[in-house]
Amino acid sequence: MASALFTTPIPDNEPVLSYAPGTPERESLKKKLDELAGQQIDIPLIIDGREVRTGDTSNYVMPHDTGHVLATWHKGGPQEIAAAIESSQRAWKEWSRWPWEERAAVLLKAADLLAGPWRDTVNASTMLGQSKTVHQAEIDAACELIDFWRFNCHYAEEIYSEQPMSSPGVWNRIEQRPLEGFVYAITPFNFTSIGGNLPTAPALMGGVSLWKPSRTSIYSNYFVMKVLQEAGLPDGVINFVIGDSAALTDVILPSPHFAGIHYTGSTEVFLMLWQKMSENLRLYKNYPRIVGETGGKDFIVAHASADVGALAAAMVRGAFEYQGQKCSAASRAYIPESLWPEVKEQLVEMVNSIKMGDPRDFRNFMCAVIDRNAFGSISEYIDEAKASADMEILVGGGYNDKKGYFIEPTIVVSQDPKSRLMCEEIFGPVLTLHVYKDSEWKEMLELCDVTSDYALTGAIFARDRAAIAEADDALRYTAGNYYINDKPTGAVVGQQPFGGGRASGTNDKAGSAINLMRWVTPRTIKENFVPPTDYTYPYMGGK
Ligand code: NAD
Repeated sequence: MASALFTTPIPDNEPVLSYAPGTPERESLKKKLDELAGQQIDIPLIIDGREVRTGDTSNYVMPHDTGHVLATWHKGGPQEIAAAIESSQRAWKEWSRWPWEERAAVLLKAADLLAGPWRDTVNASTMLGQSKTVHQAEIDAACELIDFWRFNCHYAEEIYSEQPMSSPGVWNRIEQRPLEGFVYAITPFNFTSIGGNLPTAPALMGGVSLWKPSRTSIYSNYFVMKVLQEAGLPDGVINFVIGDSAALTDVILPSPHFAGIHYTGSTEVFLMLWQKMSENLRLYKNYPRIVGETGGKDFIVAHASADVGALAAAMVRGAFEYQGQKCSAASRAYIPESLWPEVKEQLVEMVNSIKMGDPRDFRNFMCAVIDRNAFGSISEYIDEAKASADMEILVGGGYNDKKGYFIEPTIVVSQDPKSRLMCEEIFGPVLTLHVYKDSEWKEMLELCDVTSDYALTGAIFARDRAAIAEADDALRYTAGNYYINDKPTGAVVGQQPFGGGRASGTNDKAGSAINLMRWVTPRTIKENFVPPTDYTYPYMGGK
């Protein structure tokens, strides 16, 4: 081991490339899109560094062109999970003893590989496989994941350097030990970056993970796994396990080696996982660490003093980028009566100008929603709005699955501030808004706080400072990421650590020291240089 206290390079956010016409990045990405779309790959499980093919396969298609198969992927079962757990236990023995800076070097190299030679592949596979525009892929699959990897190394260094004080004759130290056992990392379809972050955060801290991606992001996530392997991640530190989620979970959670869960996805699945963990609690060596970031019903609140142009643009970007499939997407809004005519006009004009289609056509602002289930459930909400006397569709409302799962950006005006569309996460391009009387500003803030079980993101638009202060206080627990005069999406690693409370998650802020602290178990060490040799105390010298 080197005799030095190393420090990591100071991280900075990865610059977002523009892909504007004529740029070299646009030309190179277009080539990669053609290359990937022109072939069909076969995706195995990756266990102990080896590709495992079970022969039990499913097709992976483009959401915007469901007849186009991008890949086949192999489903693992109990046998593969047993092998993955065994491999992770073997890997743990060495990896958990590696010097932290060597582990960091693997992730720093992965970040540079992704920023350079792998950028096009991971971006293109995210565009084709998850139906993201080039900008949405770039800020997620490239920039955010690069940031997660670089910033986490820096936070790990901070955590390790935090040491207790010592008294005379004593040296106190704290060692941040990796968790004993494996972390089950379950990732959602909507961010390739979350796919790459959830299994690597515990690994950076010396632990091992079983990574189970969503079946609708396996395609890009497989390439992320390849980046990690190329960066020198030792075999078995992260095993890539794909298959039927419920069946895999039934084998994974009763393992005595299970040490924690790093989850992002819907609230319902998280509740079910927590329940299952508690049923198995007596099997575990340690109480499992439970980190889960879940759903949202994110709000935009406008005060009568709001700048209408900024408000309307934030509503459109916040609600419709990536087809509203962001946990942070603006999904409900509260607009004062006095601003409504102007807001309405601008919204309709903006939304009518939105182009939707294949992500390979760079003129599109929106593409398809992820799969048939999402298409079905989002269109049901739209149908409900169409059928209700209390709701009016201001713009959009159409959907079509002939070629891909396309749903128009839709704005619904709801007279009832507690209609189902104002309360439930829809996870699609539907923004429901309620117009309130200007004189009922205070009541509206209270209503916003109690309307939904979630508390993930929210935004307030106002120019009046007193109104901003009032909203800050009234909405204190309504969002874990709160914005003033900005859209509620687009949190940046190192700048706005992300996560929510209430039904939205455990709020352990992905890509921050808070999150990394969940993957270590500290050992406090006290060394006494000259220990006493007499058991008595001075007070015992007399009666
Ligand atoms: P989902 O709940 O359908 O799936 C999430 C993950 O859970 C997937 O990997 C899925 O395969 C897995 N899963 C499903 N059933 C399982 C089981 N029985 N055992 C183990 N795993 C199981 O969610 P999704 O559609 O992939 O993602 C959308 C949801 O994620 C939304 O609710 C969104 O708000 C949330 N999300 C939250 C954040 C956040 O930071 N708060 C970020 C992204 C997404």
